[in-house]
Amino acid sequence: MTSLIDVENLTLKFRTDEGLITAVDNVSFSLNKGEVMGLVGESGSGKSVTAKSLMHLNARNAVYTPESKITLHTDTGPVDVLSLKKPSEMQVVRGGAISMIFQEPMASFAPAITIGSQMVEQLMLHSDMSKAKAKEISVEMLDRVGISDPSKRFDQYAFELSGGMRQRAMIAMALSTKPKLLIADEPTTALDVTIQAQVIDLMKDLVDEFHMGIIFITHDLGVIAQTADKVCVMYLGKLIEEGPVREVIRNPKHPYTQGLLAALPRLDDLDSPLTPVPGDIPSPLERPSGCVFHTRCPQIIGDVCRRDLPTDTKVDPTHRVACHLHSAKEAQG
Ligand code: SF4
Ligand code: MG
Repeated sequence: MTSLIDVENLTLKFRTDEGLITAVDNVSFSLNKGEVMGLVGESGSGKSVTAKSLMHLNARNAVYTPESKITLHTDTGPVDVLSLKKPSEMQVVRGGAISMIFQEPMASFAPAITIGSQMVEQLMLHSDMSKAKAKEISVEMLDRVGISDPSKRFDQYAFELSGGMRQRAMIAMALSTKPKLLIADEPTTALDVTIQAQVIDLMKDLVDEFHMGIIFITHDLGVIAQTADKVCVMYLGKLIEEGPVREVIRNPKHPYTQGLLAALPRLDDLDSPLTPVPGDIPSPLERPSGCVFHTRCPQIIGDVCRRDLPTDTKVDPTHRVACHLHSAKEAQG
């Protein structure tokens, strides 16, 4: 499999009146072409900030450490994303090689411009195709995502569409430029369950057809189970567990991942009480020392967890976890 994007030692802090706040702390992962990765964690875990970094799209007070590196492999060679400075260079990643869709599709559409005009505008921005060709492609994309009567929808405004249809229109717009990587930030959260399933199926079909990579951001491991090939779990800016989705769900190693799974409703026993991870994610202003999860961990070992940062341990070649429970085992052989 060929790598699509490599993230190495990504550390991102925001400069604020209270000083530097760490949002992402030494995160590394890779995504291959044709692969769907789930990025999961509670709100405040750094998933959206990490995703935006891939497009060099974070706020102006964002500071990356010099060790941080993001390499996007395009048809014309590798691109060092964080070194892009000029707007013309940024075009390569923003809406070109990478597209992003958001939780609330209304945010992606300007209210006073038709869906079609926005799609055409975006296509023409990223290529030198004619307006007629851009319209043809846009209508075709609307059709492809399952919108009936696409020529009519092309001339409508976002508010005239139902929630599910807006979601599809947003996906059509994001895919019309044929991106290599689609980042979907909680794209199904606002939808009812039936439409959620349709959108997920649609995205899976598109991966096969366009051979693209998808990063699916969610707080819901249940959605990941249906969608992704592999999963990265984040907590307070740290990547705490990564592995193939089946393996992580069947055999979660990190106490936080175990907690997220225990909190999922069980289809075979809908009356069973949900067991959420107790406590709240700490403020990034008060990052715990040692293991960042130690203030909530039901399996805390003791001072080692409060004092020492756990490093990655491979529990098998494709499954890694950052937790002293596992580094201790490895040390003991
Ligand atoms: Fe819990 Fe310690 Fe593992 Fe952190 S390192 S998750 S506190 S056992
Ligand atoms: Mg978010």
